[in-house]
Amino acid sequence: MLQVRTVSKNYGATHALSNVSFSMQDGEALAILGPSGCGKSTLLRILAGLEHPDQGEVWWDDLEITTLPPEKRFFSLVFQDYALFPHLNVLGNVMFGLIERKMPRKAAEQQALQWLEKVNLQGLEKRKTTELSGGQQQRVSFARALAVNPRLLLLDEPFSNLDQQLREEVQNELLSTLRETQNSTILVTHDQQEAFKLASRIVLMREGQIEQMGTPTDLYHHP
Ligand code: ADP
Ligand code: ADP
Repeated sequence: MLQVRTVSKNYGATHALSNVSFSMQDGEALAILGPSGCGKSTLLRILAGLEHPDQGEVWWDDLEITTLPPEKRFFSLVFQDYALFPHLNVLGNVMFGLIERKMPRKAAEQQALQWLEKVNLQGLEKRKTTELSGGQQQRVSFARALAVNPRLLLLDEPFSNLDQQLREEVQNELLSTLRETQNSTILVTHDQQEAFKLASRIVLMREGQIEQMGTPTDLYHHP
């Protein structure tokens, strides 16, 4: 279980986060929804360990992880710009985290191939990632993130760089893969429909604070 306790973060005079608290159960899919500049990415970076809060704590089960480095948290990240390794092909990207975790090469390859199939990229494993479309690159990025079986999957506006038609297609496919894997997931987005598609619970943010929290139905009936 993840617990965020009274987290605050300032950038100079900007209160990026003020006293943010929430928790999530294992296997839950949570969306952090709010307009640009409300503090969503700051919160995600703090969860990932890429940034430290000025105040407050982040807990995973009975361990305070606020000062743990990113690699000790066993969370995976998917970014808007995919952030694939350009020197590795598709398969190499998905295998990377497994090799890093000392899985034997053959087993890592098989597991990576299975993940590529789950995100509908079978047959493209030898391609350079630079030869792929945006939607295909994002699928590689999801496969890479999920292959390591992370405790928590953090998605930062993962579909925002895709044009509208492609976005819907990739969204529907990848979100249904996520529902199948039942991985604990936090999706950061400014897109209400996207949040409603994935999440069983939504944290609505505004100007660095939590404005509302609830199921999509709660929020829909009490906007
Ligand atoms: P969102 O992800 O919701 O768009 P951010 O977390 O990126 O919001 O930003 C929240 C606020 O903090 C904004 O006012 C933004 O300008 C500011 N901010 C974010 N990162 C920095 C930074 N590294 N330096 C200064 N200000 C920042
Ligand atoms: P790392 O130090 O492990 O590369 P990062 O801070 O770059 O971690 O990314 C955070 C998380 O994203 C990692 O804990 C890991 O689960 C996942 N991740 C990063 N790079 C890869 C990769 N090449 N393959 C699989 N997972 C990765």
